[in-house]
Amino acid sequence: MRIARFGKDRVGVVLDDGVHDVTPLLKALPAHRHPFPRHDALIANLRKLGLARAAAKSRPLRVAKFLSPVANPGKIMAAPVNYTKHLEEVLKDKGIHHGNLISEIHKAGIFLKASSSVVGPGEGVRLVHTDRRNDHEVELAVVIGKRGRNIAAADALGHVAGYCIGLDMTIRGPEERSFRKSPDSYTVLGPWLVTADEIPDPGALDLRILVNGTVRQEANTRDLILGVPQLIAWASSFYSLHPGDVLLTGTPQGVGPVKPGDVMEATIARIGTMRVEVGAA
Ligand code: MN
Repeated sequence: MRIARFGKDRVGVVLDDGVHDVTPLLKALPAHRHPFPRHDALIANLRKLGLARAAAKSRPLRVAKFLSPVANPGKIMAAPVNYTKHLEEVLKDKGIHHGNLISEIHKAGIFLKASSSVVGPGEGVRLVHTDRRNDHEVELAVVIGKRGRNIAAADALGHVAGYCIGLDMTIRGPEERSFRKSPDSYTVLGPWLVTADEIPDPGALDLRILVNGTVRQEANTRDLILGVPQLIAWASSFYSLHPGDVLLTGTPQGVGPVKPGDVMEATIARIGTMRVEVGAA
């Protein structure tokens, strides 16, 4: 199943003929008052809502503006250098590494991005500090579906709600990664969530990104240094994972700058394609 958020906080199921609005079903979600739980309520209750059945009964819409499929991610975890060829290009280019000590993921660990950085493709990226280099990084994004801690790699895929395309937008420079990657709109998730049952092997997906029609990054998730199960196991050995938490798995070689006016088009096999306009904040 493909689940999208669109327009003004609508939720839909994406079928071949378009998006089927199932927003009324969300009334069945538990009503929370302060303090709110750390998970995303829709992702935590995805299986209980009967979205597919309702979608089949409704008429398709043409949607212009897709939002992030996860409205309230508790945290955005991200793998820093998780493709060998990307590590090589980072070490070669001072415009990327800025004298920072760059090592592969085994030494660098996982970092966090502000959840306020999340947008959907229809909202676009709004660059800050446009005098500096701002790069695209296309990544497979994993959405956690089940709470867990110290999850074994062998059990990890059972904790996944689904997958979407992620853009880990980045200002290059000397500061900490999480600071440079956390401005508003610097995490794009979309165009929808594809539930895990449709992607039995997240380690065999072609991914790519075009900027203004030119291919910049093209790779396959089989080249990930740490695959999805290993990343979940490692992350959960440091912190609890909650439904709606997002894990960006790392970007392959070919990162490069974007500027206001550019259009990015990112594709991951079995998920889809999303078009994202770049503007200035
Ligand atoms: Mn990244």
